[in-house]
Formats: sequence, C-alpha cells, structure tokens
Amino acid sequence: MAHRTDAAHGLCAHRGAILHFRSDPGTHDDRESFEFFDDGLLVTADGQVASIGPARELLSALPTDARVVEHRDSLLMPGFVDTHIHYPQTDIIGTGGRQLLDWLQNHTYPTEGEFADPAHAREVAEIFLDELLRNGTTTALVFCSVHPTSVQAFFEAAAARHLRMAAGKVLMDRNCPEYLRDSPETGERDSRELLEAWHGRERLLYAITPRFAPTSSEAQLASAGRLAGEYPDALIHTHLAENPDEVAWVQRLFPQARSYLDVYDHYGLVRERAIYAHCIHLDHTDRARLAQSGASAAFCPTSNLRLGSGLFDLKAADAAGMRFSVATDVAGRRSFSMLQTLGDAYKVAQLSHQHLSPLRAFYLATLAGARALGIDHRIGRFAAGMEADFVVLDLRATALIARRIARSRTLAEKLLALLSLGDDRAVARTYILGRQAHARAASRSGSAACT
Ligand SMILES: [Zn+2]
Repeated sequence: MAHRTDAAHGLCAHRGAILHFRSDPGTHDDRESFEFFDDGLLVTADGQVASIGPARELLSALPTDARVVEHRDSLLMPGFVDTHIHYPQTDIIGTGGRQLLDWLQNHTYPTEGEFADPAHAREVAEIFLDELLRNGTTTALVFCSVHPTSVQAFFEAAAARHLRMAAGKVLMDRNCPEYLRDSPETGERDSRELLEAWHGRERLLYAITPRFAPTSSEAQLASAGRLAGEYPDALIHTHLAENPDEVAWVQRLFPQARSYLDVYDHYGLVRERAIYAHCIHLDHTDRARLAQSGASAAFCPTSNLRLGSGLFDLKAADAAGMRFSVATDVAGRRSFSMLQTLGDAYKVAQLSHQHLSPLRAFYLATLAGARALGIDHRIGRFAAGMEADFVVLDLRATALIARRIARSRTLAEKLLALLSLGDDRAVARTYILGRQAHARAASRSGSAACT
C-alpha cells in the first residue's frame, strides 16, 4: 500500500540492542525463532527498514553522511500490535463493574452513546492515539462505536499520523439501548461504505465488527457474513466466549448452534483474518475449528482478570494449534501498556500452572499480532522493505528496572524484568515509518529524531 510521499525521508541508523522475531518461539524458546543483537544497527530509509545487523558490520558500510542515533541502555523492537481495543471506552478506563454484562450496561453503552457527536469522536481519537504511541503500540485492531462518524473520525486521525491501524463500525441491532441500535440494512450499508472508503487507503484496514452474537440478530449476522464473503481481505473482529453468563445467553438465543463459535461459523465469520477477543470458555472442537480456519484469538489477560471472566488456556490453544496474540482490551483493563499486559499474561499462565516464557510473550505482542491481522509482510519484524514502525525500550527507565537489568544474565531475564516492572515509563521513544512519533518527557532533551 502506498504511503503519503511526505512521510518519506532519507537514511538513518539506530544503534542499540535489537530484538525481533521470525516465528513463534513456542514453549521451548526455539533459538531460530528470533534474532538478537547486543550492539545492533537498524537502518531505515524512506520509512522502511533498509538493513539490520551487528553495528560493527553495518556501520562501516554506511554512507559518510548517514545519521547514526545512539540508543544507549535501550532495546529496540518492532512496535507493539494490540489486537483488541475499544477507542470509545478511553474515558471509562479504570471504572468498576461486577462482570461483563453489568459493566456493558452501566459504563460502556452510555459512553459509546457520546460518539454520535463527531467533535467528541475526533477529540477522543486523538487522545487514544497519543496513548497508544506513548505505550509503544504502533498498530491496533480497534472497535469504534455503532456510529459511522466514530469510524470516520478514527481513520482520519490515524491517517494524519501515517499509522497502520485497523478499525470498524460496531454492528448491533438488538439487546442494547435504543440509541445505540442500527438495523441489518443500515449496518450493512454503513459498513460497506466505510469499507470502500478506508480499507487499503493509506495504511488503514477495515474490520467487519459485530459487537458479539447476543447484540446482533440473525439477519445482521447474515449481513456481516455476506460482507466477509464479498471482501475476503477485510478483517473480522468480534468477541467470543469471554464470560460464563454471556456463553449461557448465547446458548439461549441460538439454541440450534453447537457452541458460541458455531454461531459465527454458521454465518461465514470464521476464517483467516478473523480475530476473536477472549476465547476463554471453548471446548476442544471449537479450538480445533479455530486452528483449522486460520482465525485467531486475542488473549486479553488484564481485562479477563479485572472482569473476573476466566483464564485463557495457553496449553489447550497450543495443543489445538490455535493462533493467538495479546491485547489490552481497553477499557476492560487499566492501561494501554502492552508491557503490563504481558505481565498479566505471565500471571494468567502461572495461575493455570502453565508457563509463558518472556521471549514468547514479546513475540505475542509483536509478530503474532501482525500475523493475526495478515500484515506480517509489512510490520511485526525487521527485514529489508518492512515498514519501520519500532519502539525504543529504556532499560534504565526506573531505578528498579535498572538494578534488575544490571543483575540479569540472559536476554530472557531482561525481558522478564521489562514485563514485570515496565509500563509507559519504559517506552523512551516510538517511531512510525522511521520518524519519531513519541518521545518520553525525560528523553526529549537528546535528539533522536530522524526527519
Ligand atoms: Zn472487548
């Protein structure tokens, strides 16, 4: 996809420790799955990665006028990919609620109602994107509200910043307040118009977005399936099997379906580039079907803990060969930080007597997300020609992180320190297409911009 020409610029080299993944390290930290340079060089040109390798080899090959940015005590990684997040819920972050269905009624729906106002949508979209970049997240799969204006505002804001983002209008025609309801006809029409206008434009992707099975009629799910068939390269984004009460509700609403997943499957919504948030209360048949279809789960550990929804079963997902990535699910959680989310993913595994290695955790936050969205040939790892979206993590961000890192003997120990102690303070800088898009206040004095 073409970038705006004004985002293009010349050659720049970033020196520091560099980590990226080629594939899933799995449960045994497969050494072939990642590349790590203790003193590495990431060279970018015209918004793309030009080369990557050991600094001592690449520095001598640089043109004499090339700019070299030194990132001392830092780790450079591809930008984080958050595969499930709601931008209209930015303002209700940290609110309470008993469990999912109660929280939707009392917090989520009232705040989403405000997005009928385009000015409000524009304001929140900017704050939301600022927060993502401040936390090192360069790509996200985003729920908007039911209002087409909310999608318009989000895509306009993302395009102005040259971001690679995916989003869609919520489809919701029943079991929700009247003021948030569309219909099978208007939902399909509006989705189609937005898809035609935005999918593949700049760096943006459209996601067909039924909220979840209980809030769409059978006619609306059928229309979503029609769109999915007509636009096979569009994404599908919804929720699946988050909470036991929700699962029981789906069973009552769709008595003919074998399972919750089966409802989506019946309407042609289970395929590659379909991302299902949560996927906690599944059985073996569901997991096998997800694996076979190429669809993937967005594991949202903090949200699941906070709303008491349950624990994502990593071992069962692996046994079935299911694809999954990690997501914040703002505002079902307390921050936009993917580092904190990885810390909670680690805890969820521990609570289930399973193990998530720190290396695999960072794979889930980068390349796994890009794969789920079908854009791992563009982002999620470093190779010549890939888009240069990356994050600079500060290994001395806090006194505790600095002390813990100093005592770490291995890369895995350093990564564990980052996901256990890190948050937005550990994100020194975020780059979009090779350009600095965020610098933490304490980092602004030094010049690390390549423009
Ligand atoms: Zn959600």
